[in-house]
Amino acid sequence: MEKKNVWEKYQGEKRQDVFDFGEGYKEFISLCKTERECVTRLKAQAEEAGFHDLYKVLSEGGKIQRGDKLYAENMGKALAMFVIGREPLEKGMNILGAHIDSPRLDIKQIPLYEDTQMAFLDTHYYGGVKKYQWVALPLALHGVIVKKDGTVVNVNIGEKETDPVFGVSDLLIHLSADQMAKKASLVIEGENLDILVGSIPTILSEEEKEKAKETVKANILQLLAEQYQIEEDDFLSAEIEAVPAGAARDYGFDRSMVMGYGHDDRVCAYSAFQAILEAGNCDKTTVCLLVDKEEIGSVGATGMGSNFFEYTVIELLEAMGQYSPVAFQRVMKHTKALSTDVSAAFDPLFPNVAEKKNASYMGKGLVFNKFTGSKGKGGCNDANPEYIAQLRRIMDDNDISFQMAELGKVDQGGGGTIAFLFAKYGMQVIDSGVSVLNMHAPWEIISKGDLYETKRGYTAFLKEA
Ligand code: MN
Ligand code: MN
Repeated sequence: MEKKNVWEKYQGEKRQDVFDFGEGYKEFISLCKTERECVTRLKAQAEEAGFHDLYKVLSEGGKIQRGDKLYAENMGKALAMFVIGREPLEKGMNILGAHIDSPRLDIKQIPLYEDTQMAFLDTHYYGGVKKYQWVALPLALHGVIVKKDGTVVNVNIGEKETDPVFGVSDLLIHLSADQMAKKASLVIEGENLDILVGSIPTILSEEEKEKAKETVKANILQLLAEQYQIEEDDFLSAEIEAVPAGAARDYGFDRSMVMGYGHDDRVCAYSAFQAILEAGNCDKTTVCLLVDKEEIGSVGATGMGSNFFEYTVIELLEAMGQYSPVAFQRVMKHTKALSTDVSAAFDPLFPNVAEKKNASYMGKGLVFNKFTGSKGKGGCNDANPEYIAQLRRIMDDNDISFQMAELGKVDQGGGGTIAFLFAKYGMQVIDSGVSVLNMHAPWEIISKGDLYETKRGYTAFLKEA
């Protein structure tokens, strides 16, 4: 069962393709740090590649036929792309489904306060984070502020070299006697993940000074009014995410890896997006589905738990003149899916949490997880061996390096994905993606070899499953 390292397969000139693919990916994750930014960029690239807005086509009374390339967007935070296949839809689709939300610190709705002439934005973290990892590092603010008149102000501060950055402070070691004795989960408390944003008091007359209290906060509000034409109440209808500032970088002397924010799960989202472009017209209808809210349980209108995807499929069937409730059921039941999400890479510094035979390794290719879940596979999808056998065949036929793994030792912990939400339609589905070191840390690490192999594996799946 010894799996070869993918770099052994890619030697000489072949290695250049792997590195080139990594460059495109680095640009993508450096620019797209929120679900909205992912949808905006990928939608534009899909249009360039000949995809049309499904709802626009429908509103113009257009008909849909084989070979058509379509996309549907959900509230700017999720995107479904379809390439209509040669076979009838009732034979099922081949879906790659990834999530484009990542752990981060969300700015609260009433965030701004001042303490000892320092101004802060209060946050509420999103997804599973080790809170102590999010202090003492540069953060950028990404998001939108929607004013009462509907105007959307886009926020993106902290990425350009000349931009300011923000951050959460940590205690100096000299005064950390009490802190260092705490459990790791309590070293930094959630309510203390507040972002320092300013320290200059606004200039006041002697008379005003007598009455004035929060002068630094007042100065920040003045700046926000000048630069963004917003007032304090506009934070009520804002969605601003504090994320690690800066671009993804090559990692290691040999540049074999990428350190970046949000590999989970944008590394699979990017691979899935590139795969549907590369696969072109296939026998089956192919789908790249990018959803939000996976990190908080796939809830909400833009998460996989919403009916967005099934409604979109119903619209497609209707536009093809094939809709009936039973036809819809057949489409879903005959569909095959890869829940394209990341896996935990084996870390030699923490060997005790893994069981070596069934761990995933950096550089050993696309990972399949038959199941996820916790405490006896609780809450997971458990893929069928008949389906896994078919996938093994496709991977081997296309010389794709892949590995089968599970998330850590039995009873060590666990996790979930969107797989169970595909499974409820009776689809064949399995988790499959890239191994990640430092998962859910501000800066995560992946292997460029795994990224390349994952894109190849996804492409083969769309063409042949
Ligand atoms: Mn994930
Ligand atoms: Mn995750």
